[in-house]
Amino acid sequence: MTVTQPSSPPLSPELIAKFKKIVGEKYAVTDAADIEPYVTEERNLFHGRSPLVLRPGSTAEVSAICKLASEHKIALVPQGGNTGLVGGQMPHNGEVVVSLRRLDKIREVDTASNTMTCEAGVVLQVAQQKASGVDRLFPLSLGAEGSCTIGGNLSTNAGGTAALAYGVAREMALGVEVVLADGRVLNVLSKLKKDNTGYNLHNLFIGAEGTLGIITAATLKLFPKPRAVETAYVGLKSPAAALKLLTIAQGEAANALTSFELLSEMAVDFSVRHGIDVRDPLQETHPWYVLMELSSPSDDARTPLETILGRAMEEEIVDDAVIAASLAQRNNFWKLREEMSAAQKPEGGSIKHDISVPVVAVPAFIEEANAAVVKLIPGARPVPFGHLGDGNLHYNVSQPIGANTADYLARWHDVNAVVFEIVLRMGGSISAEHGIGVLKRDELPEVKDKVAIELMRSVKAMLDPLGIMNPGKVL
Ligand code: FAD
Repeated sequence: MTVTQPSSPPLSPELIAKFKKIVGEKYAVTDAADIEPYVTEERNLFHGRSPLVLRPGSTAEVSAICKLASEHKIALVPQGGNTGLVGGQMPHNGEVVVSLRRLDKIREVDTASNTMTCEAGVVLQVAQQKASGVDRLFPLSLGAEGSCTIGGNLSTNAGGTAALAYGVAREMALGVEVVLADGRVLNVLSKLKKDNTGYNLHNLFIGAEGTLGIITAATLKLFPKPRAVETAYVGLKSPAAALKLLTIAQGEAANALTSFELLSEMAVDFSVRHGIDVRDPLQETHPWYVLMELSSPSDDARTPLETILGRAMEEEIVDDAVIAASLAQRNNFWKLREEMSAAQKPEGGSIKHDISVPVVAVPAFIEEANAAVVKLIPGARPVPFGHLGDGNLHYNVSQPIGANTADYLARWHDVNAVVFEIVLRMGGSISAEHGIGVLKRDELPEVKDKVAIELMRSVKAMLDPLGIMNPGKVL
């Protein structure tokens, strides 16, 4: 995908030498082959270019980088695990990449305050494991958790599979440390749940996708570790039936319902056929599936799960269901869900949407969107799946069988237009959890409140007057 962006002045050898001096020769990457992993991304949708990748090892080094960059008006692109799906972490126009991965210390774990202070480059899975090691839960969970970082998670305000019970990344952060464009360090790290001392500044940087400053650390909330987790895989006839099941489950289990994923037959079929080590847990195929999980602070999550499924069977909402009998089986259920995105690749081009609508509108959205995309491109194959409990669907549309992939992907914006029209009419969002980056940047002014866009531009101009912080992203 080609991206139009403000240009960045070329870096002189003298300036490169000054940047190198900040991080040390070893942590400044200039060789094209070594830069390659920082300018390519998972989907191959974007390919960036950069003359220099800096890998600072401390907040002070990040601060010195920003100060030097602002003195010379050099554009910077912060990067964590490089798993973002909207091109926000890519240097599209020769910017300097600031990789935060070396900032990987967990500074403090406090089980009395239930907080953990992590540097930005801590990999999400490492943070989860650290919390588990002290009998706590850090609940943010997503398919890329083995490589995405806390800084990236906060900058994209990531959602994932446990947002239903614990909220999105924003709700898991109590404070942040941020290096501003001019090099100043804003320290609003805090363990406080209650702190009414003026504007909530840390939230400005969460979800800002690196356009307002570079997050170097964050204080995260920890939660009690569940004593029992039970997972069910359910076959049913329609999204409407899944919605009825969700209503029963929420009534019965309340906050113990931690995940509720809706999976279309095609999404499951692709995952089983193309995913690695994926097995279908049910004997027969069904038009739709739900993967649901209950996590209980007591020892029993099985009884409420059986009650929910029993009631749903009685009311003929559910056609078949299996409860994981072991941890291995539970992991298999989740593997089927986690492989879903990657499993679409062998089916050719996939036009993706990460949308949300009010939960109640999900069945109508799917019906309307399916009809609209097939009318636009006969033979197109909708592959919806996602977090029904949050009204968030990955509404992906695979190319017609045998179609030319490049021709199909050239219709990306046409397909977006019909899908977004339905989303907006239903009171939804065109980006539920992946962010705006460059992928949805041009659509944002069309769909967001005009005053909100004006305020966003004012905040950007105030914090980054030279426009060096991830230019061309979001706005
Ligand atoms: P990057 O990709 O490196 O960067 C993402 C954005 O944040 C960029 O704009 C970048 O400039 C900025 N950034 C990164 N670090 C910093 C920092 N320290 N300070 C300031 N800005 C920074 N997302 C979800 O929300 N839910 C999912 O369920 C989900 N599943 C995924 C599954 C797969 C297989 C993949 C590949 C991705 C998935 N994602 C999901 C998207 C992605 O993993 C998240 O957006 C993640 O939070 C990005 O973290 P990262 O460290 O890789 O950030």
